[in-house]
Amino acid sequence: MKNLVILGATGSIGDSTLKVIRKHPDKFKVTALSAHSNVDKIIQLANEFQPEHVVITGKAALHKVEQALSGLKTQVHGGKNSLNAIVSDKQVDLVVAGIVGNAGMESVLAAVAAGKTLLLANKEALVVAGELVMPLAKKTKANIIPLDSEHNAIFQCLGNGYEAGVRPDGVNSITLTASGGPFWEMDETLFESITPAQAVAHPKWNMGAKISVDSATLMNKGLEVIEAYWLFNIASEDINVLVHPQSIIHSMVNFIDGSVLAQMGCPDMQIPISHGLGLGQRLGNDADFLDLLQQKQLTFYQADSHKFKCLQLARHALSLGGTAAAILNAANEISVASFLKGQIRFDQIAQINDRMMNAIQSVNVESVAQLNDLDEEVRMKTKAAINSK
Ligand code: NAD
Ligand code: MG
Repeated sequence: MKNLVILGATGSIGDSTLKVIRKHPDKFKVTALSAHSNVDKIIQLANEFQPEHVVITGKAALHKVEQALSGLKTQVHGGKNSLNAIVSDKQVDLVVAGIVGNAGMESVLAAVAAGKTLLLANKEALVVAGELVMPLAKKTKANIIPLDSEHNAIFQCLGNGYEAGVRPDGVNSITLTASGGPFWEMDETLFESITPAQAVAHPKWNMGAKISVDSATLMNKGLEVIEAYWLFNIASEDINVLVHPQSIIHSMVNFIDGSVLAQMGCPDMQIPISHGLGLGQRLGNDADFLDLLQQKQLTFYQADSHKFKCLQLARHALSLGGTAAAILNAANEISVASFLKGQIRFDQIAQINDRMMNAIQSVNVESVAQLNDLDEEVRMKTKAAINSK
């Protein structure tokens, strides 16, 4: 029986994780859940799983959740620091990092500092703080298992050849596949009329709003290039991106002998999550089985990083190193949120991200406090740039 903490339990990753957990009550005990503002959902989940701890990070939600759970043994905690405490608890075996954005960064570091097995969906944490996370994992022997479907696919293809942060032997390059999002075939001149509703309607994956917009701008693939760099210690030029609209091949490893291993499956996050949770054992889930006869065709296209500038910006951030990726991430979190609120156009997301990367100088990564200060500074400056338009 493994004791499990789910950070971001009320989100899309939380949903998929809990679907798998419900199938295996003999293998997992949910000891803690976190949520930001979805009061009704966390109350329902707490009643269902009766965890020892619930953490509510959104101020407005705390009191309501405390009241609603007062009849349970579950302890309700407020604030970001409580996330660090619950992941570090001695009895915890597995931590699912399913918070969206840099908001999850410190809890990822706390889980790694405590030497836990970290099932990582929260890619922004690595994008921002990879330079702190990976050496710390080496020191504490924390096991970092990627849940992001592409990185989990590569992890599966590498088998025993995977060690977090170490370039695997015999690998020439890796290929991340991208669905291309809803607009990869659209003429760029039409980008300015794209609405938030169109951007979050992903053709293949059912995900939270922020990552859905990132998929539409290809920023998601850019963040994933940076994520892959940290997880597998593979340089940007050895990380290929290929548009594969069916989302059946989730990524591939190209070995030095010409062998290519790919991982396939229906686009359902239960599959990589089951693989991560199983720790080497296959776990059943509710995802559909792949029917290639029905699928018939798998197609591939060059990713257009001219049309989708965010992909180019991410590679640029990686080549700059230091805090460049943290700057890009913070700018992107604000530009995406502003787009979702109708304050900027879709095509302005890349423009603003580019502008902020040029406006703020990258320096060496030194500490969490430095990254938090930088995150705040970039967010303020990005908001100011948007408001001045
Ligand atoms: P989501 O928006 O559906 O859920 C986000 C979760 O984070 C919620 O539980 C919310 O309560 C919590 N949260 C939001 N703001 C917070 C804050 N300020 N502080 C603390 N908690 C906060 O997002 P998602 O789609 O589940 O994505 C979660 C992460 O997983 C992202 O980093 C995303 O890139 C990654 N990911 C998601 C998918 C997917 O299929 N959804 C696939 C691969 C990777
Ligand atoms: Mg992915």
